[in-house]
Amino acid sequence: MMDYPLTVRTIYQRAQALFPGRQLVTRLPGGVRRTTYGEWAERVARLAGGLRDLGVGPGDRVATFCWNHDRHLEVYFAAALMGASYHTLNIRLGGDQLAYIVNHAKDKVLVCDAELAPAIGPVLPGLDTVEHVLVLDGDDGQRPDLGFGAEHGYEDLVERSAPMTAWPELDERQTAGICYTSATTGNPKGVAYSHRALYLHSLVVGLVDTAAISERDVLLPIVPMFHVNAWGMPFAATWFGAGQVYGGPAPTPADYLRLIRDEGVTVSAGVPTVWLGILQLLESDGGDLGPLQRIICGGSAAPVSMIRAYEERHGVEFVHAYGMTEATPVTHFSRLKSGMDDLPVEARYGYKAKQGLLVPGLEQRVVDADGDEVPADGKSMGELRLRGPSIASEYLDDPRSAQTFVDGWYHTGDVATVDQAGYLHVVDRTKDLVKSGGEWISSVELENALMGHPEVAQAAVIAVPDERWGERPLAVVVRKPGSEVGEAEVVASVAGKFPKWWLPERVEFVDEIPMTATGKFSKRLLRERFVSRLHEEEGSDER
Ligand code: AMP
Repeated sequence: MMDYPLTVRTIYQRAQALFPGRQLVTRLPGGVRRTTYGEWAERVARLAGGLRDLGVGPGDRVATFCWNHDRHLEVYFAAALMGASYHTLNIRLGGDQLAYIVNHAKDKVLVCDAELAPAIGPVLPGLDTVEHVLVLDGDDGQRPDLGFGAEHGYEDLVERSAPMTAWPELDERQTAGICYTSATTGNPKGVAYSHRALYLHSLVVGLVDTAAISERDVLLPIVPMFHVNAWGMPFAATWFGAGQVYGGPAPTPADYLRLIRDEGVTVSAGVPTVWLGILQLLESDGGDLGPLQRIICGGSAAPVSMIRAYEERHGVEFVHAYGMTEATPVTHFSRLKSGMDDLPVEARYGYKAKQGLLVPGLEQRVVDADGDEVPADGKSMGELRLRGPSIASEYLDDPRSAQTFVDGWYHTGDVATVDQAGYLHVVDRTKDLVKSGGEWISSVELENALMGHPEVAQAAVIAVPDERWGERPLAVVVRKPGSEVGEAEVVASVAGKFPKWWLPERVEFVDEIPMTATGKFSKRLLRERFVSRLHEEEGSDER
């Protein structure tokens, strides 16, 4: 057989050759922008030409600070095809973390949305390696001045640049894209996606037993493109010729509902918080989901009540998915096996609410503290470990890699069971983080900041279940002797240090925080005390 490299060039060329008329739609505050794969492919080539003229070459990195839109997809491909890589920045991170990430990845060019200028502007002076900033036009065709010396209009660059026609030969193992993920403590950790990993992962999400993305679909990726390439869905849609619809700047649930109905969206992917918001809107608006056939929901556990509401009340197939930044990202999809259709309804939804079956091409082990595999009985818990061609082997230039990637296996930090039918169920997390609306909050950083208050002796932060956000942080605080400090003051004392959505809404004052044998806060005991109800629900296998 030919030693043919697995690169995203194949994805680009197929869309260009076979689906030039298929549409890409982006919502803008004042309407929608429509383009086609044919026009998009031409613009990708021009953008690559423009980036080359700015000095971007193989191995360089192009950061994006953008919402979901067709231009963002242009940067993905232009950077990857020219042998450089795109690097998606999470628009919800604070300035310090953004500066760390850009400097650590040594990004050379930064592409940002006009609407996000107020968030990125103040960070620019701290970016050591960025040589050029490309600013996209706002809805009014204007673009803000960020006060960065080498600042260009993205549209001007695409219009005036000669297209790159001869793409360089690429090694399938070279990096095409980069995404950072939050760490329990310290700075975020980078994962570099090779062409090969993106290629193989894209194939997987097209399979009928996974997300089944096909030419007959119109895909609305609600999951941000800065979260692991919107779970790889845009790559799959491009390859298989599905139409694509993007939410554009600051979309609301009402915007999504309108896009689904007006643009013929058949499949959409997002976190539970988004699907909950859309569900609430549907109940008040009394309408239906029009052409929508499938929902892919992941990033946090999908509540069984929501799965049932979409399937039973709205006639939409709900596919629960699971994965992580280190896995490109989707590793499991929960679809019923043949023979399960006749199970009692509770049992069927019980399977659908699990994280599901491992996708083809990966290997998994669920192991106990000694590293021995636990029985697949749906009860025995252990840490999930993974390996395969779309699983990272290290964090980008980061000594912390050694703790997570051990003997060829990625240690996920998720605690799970596997049942006799092979369905994975995630029951706990050893990572000391809170996942709110699909975004991570570091409990440890909040704790350190809270303990900086002069009247706080100890502070521990745990995740508590929240109907809307999935989880929210709860601060458990021990006051210093004689102190009467209250909730509002404690929270206000850390307010300036974190993005607003990190701040706990609730503080519980206690006399002491339980400790583990090794002298750490026992988060397990705190969770048992403050969120025992959640544990009963999540630990049960009868869902
Ligand atoms: P991220 O790297 O930000 O995508 O986060 C990955 C982590 O989110 C996983 O290791 C899990 O802890 C959690 N996660 C992702 N999907 C699910 C899911 N369907 N159910 C429960 N937890 C999930």
